[in-house]
Amino acid sequence: MKMKLIYSRENLGKPILSEVINKTNLPINILEAKITLNTGEMLIDVPAEGEKLKEVSYLFQKAGLIVKEITRTIEIDREKCISCGACVSPCPVKAITQDSNWDVIFHEEKCVGCGICVNACPVRAIQML
Ligand code: SF4
Ligand code: SF4
Repeated sequence: MKMKLIYSRENLGKPILSEVINKTNLPINILEAKITLNTGEMLIDVPAEGEKLKEVSYLFQKAGLIVKEITRTIEIDREKCISCGACVSPCPVKAITQDSNWDVIFHEEKCVGCGICVNACPVRAIQML
């Protein structure tokens, strides 16, 4: 499950992620991080489900972070798509590929929700969810 963690200025410098990793024993992976002077956003991949996932979410919230669970990231409108392939190479994690018929295949489990493909599409067939 991918999660977006939103840090306020007060908790930016705290080792919240490492504490949660220590407490849960989960190898949580950082997929993307954007930090400014006042806020921070981190996209993480949590290899857990059910009660363990709830525990992770609870620990982050208890530490003062806003937690958003990301279940879907983009949607491709198949009616609009002209199979041009312009969205394939800009994707930093190879979450979009084309099959032998040039049909676009979206690998949702890889997507980190960066939105690069949205702007790459010439016919606006991709939108963020
Ligand atoms: S949102 Fe980013 S990671 Fe997801 S498919 Fe588009 S370019 Fe790839
Ligand atoms: S860039 Fe747009 S039209 Fe081209 S293959 Fe990707 S989704 Fe389809």
